[in-house]
Amino acid sequence: MKVYFDNAATTAIDVQVLDLQYELQRKYYGNASSIHQLGRETKVIIENARTTVARLLNVSPSEIFFTSGGTESINTLVAGVVNQLKPLSIITSKIEHPAMLQSLTTQAHQSGCVLQFLEINAKGIINLDHLESLLQSLNGTQVLISLMHVNNELGNLLSLKKVSELAHKYQAFFMCDTVQSIGKYPIDLGAIPVDFAVGSAHKFHGPKGIGFMYINRKNTLAPLLLGGTQERNMRAGTENFANIAALAKAIELAYSDMENHLNHVQQLKKHLIDRITAELPNITFNGNTEGFPYILNLGIPKTEHNEMILMNLDIQGIYLSGGSACSSGTLKPSHVMEALGLAERCRPLRVSFSKYNTLEEVDYLVDVLK
Ligand code: PLP
Repeated sequence: MKVYFDNAATTAIDVQVLDLQYELQRKYYGNASSIHQLGRETKVIIENARTTVARLLNVSPSEIFFTSGGTESINTLVAGVVNQLKPLSIITSKIEHPAMLQSLTTQAHQSGCVLQFLEINAKGIINLDHLESLLQSLNGTQVLISLMHVNNELGNLLSLKKVSELAHKYQAFFMCDTVQSIGKYPIDLGAIPVDFAVGSAHKFHGPKGIGFMYINRKNTLAPLLLGGTQERNMRAGTENFANIAALAKAIELAYSDMENHLNHVQQLKKHLIDRITAELPNITFNGNTEGFPYILNLGIPKTEHNEMILMNLDIQGIYLSGGSACSSGTLKPSHVMEALGLAERCRPLRVSFSKYNTLEEVDYLVDVLK
């Protein structure tokens, strides 16, 4: 049996998305910046995709900018915000994705703005009272809050509503790394005043190397990539129109059945928790198990016999990660486990589901773990 439980790292492309991408690549090749008919055809494909993404997130198409994915979007947003909106302080957490942490650290260092980390508890839950007290103490100065919606290692889910209310109350900018949640979890950016958000198609059964950033129309940022005037001057470089259309198709498919997929993975997660609790009581759960249904992080007690657990699972046809994708393949403990004080205590196993997983696969994982 082959079981793919590493969907937080990336997902399998949906065949309908792949078919569309292939068909478009075959039919069209004009450069969207060319003014002749072939260029205009490609341009229409891109603008239709932008309208679809914007409609599903309840924002305006002019607020969506296509990029190569989450990492590029985050780097562009952080550099843009720090250099143009010039916050004096940035508030974040130690369990953000490395793309965010490294962008924030580098930009804060270069600009001289102060980076502050919020307290988290042993489950990795962000202390929002601490956020409010920091915002109070920074009273009146320009502040950027950068917190992720879903933690990619733990599956913890942040309340966008609460954080955006605090941001609004203290007139801070709110940037949210929504890479894990967009396309899997309902997000209404029109109703919740987030200033900046991010999407990456390969997390929701689209192609790799394509994503977007959302920039609320109140804010104007400078681009990171310089050159042509593509993406209304926000991202130079010839657009990958087929990938852009494929991203729109993937998000459309995701939204058309989001509730069912959420219920399905919730059932898988519950079954895994129930069986582990009953049959493998030594295994703990890292993070808040009440969070995002697509991710469950298991803490395997460290023994000398299970050092190679990931490799042994791999041999049995079960594919999952020990930490985030970026740290898989290395033996270095993840920064998230370190921040939680769990790095020395257990071996984390991140099980991340998709719409394609089944209860039989969960049973197979538990049987092999036993
Ligand atoms: N942010 C989070 C929370 C992620 O999980 C990832 C990918 O693992 C990224 C950002 C980076 O996205 P991409 O792989 O599209 O560059």
